[in-house]
Amino acid sequence: MAEDRERGQDGALVLFSGGQDSATCVAWALGRYRHVETVGFAYGQRHAIELTCRSPVRAGLAGIARWGDRLGEDHMVDMASGLAAVGTTALTSETAIAMTEEGLPNTFVPGRNLLFLTYAAAIAWRRGLRRIVAGMCETDYSGYPDCRDDTIKAMQVALNLGMQRRFVLETPLMWRDKAATWALAQALGGSALVELIREATHSCYLGDRTQRHDWGYGCGTCPACELRAGGWQRWRAQRSGNDAAEASEPHT
Ligand code: ZN
Repeated sequence: MAEDRERGQDGALVLFSGGQDSATCVAWALGRYRHVETVGFAYGQRHAIELTCRSPVRAGLAGIARWGDRLGEDHMVDMASGLAAVGTTALTSETAIAMTEEGLPNTFVPGRNLLFLTYAAAIAWRRGLRRIVAGMCETDYSGYPDCRDDTIKAMQVALNLGMQRRFVLETPLMWRDKAATWALAQALGGSALVELIREATHSCYLGDRTQRHDWGYGCGTCPACELRAGGWQRWRAQRSGNDAAEASEPHT
């Protein structure tokens, strides 16, 4: 009982897809909380290869500093037939990625993140975990409305009312651009974490792991690859700018 209470107050469940953002969120939670569990979702994504990245990334995270003692169970939820039954998008079928008339990318899967958070809360409820951590971001993103801060805040209220708990939904990347997400990884786990994210995580919408770039594997041209590559390049430029500034400071 005492153990359960301890886990509840200082325990977190992280939505973990196997991508860069969610891997950074797991590291963020491991740096803060004594007990961290993860949950992944199979929703018929065409880049289901990301799910195969989850185990190696978890193993890599467990090898960094004292995080291995904190990393708890992994949960998988299969919602492929459910989401596929209610519609087709470019993220769940072999359709070309494009913008729709409403100004949304056709990779948007309506209701996806709302369902993820609802399932995550149901698991957190059962596991006695108070914090739910997710990688949504509205700073440097594809324009999905269910990644917005207001959506997450509204979900927190709805879940707490509907499940009679005091869950705290935490989104450490919400106000960070992709360069700042790389910088956060460096700050949390040093170059070991940055290397793990480059090598083992997956972001590419097309599921391409045949091409290796500086920033990791991917086709290099889909919106997810463009965001990841752009962030990497800006972060590297900022770092080399900082190094140059430090080197040119007069020594006293
Ligand atoms: Zn790609």
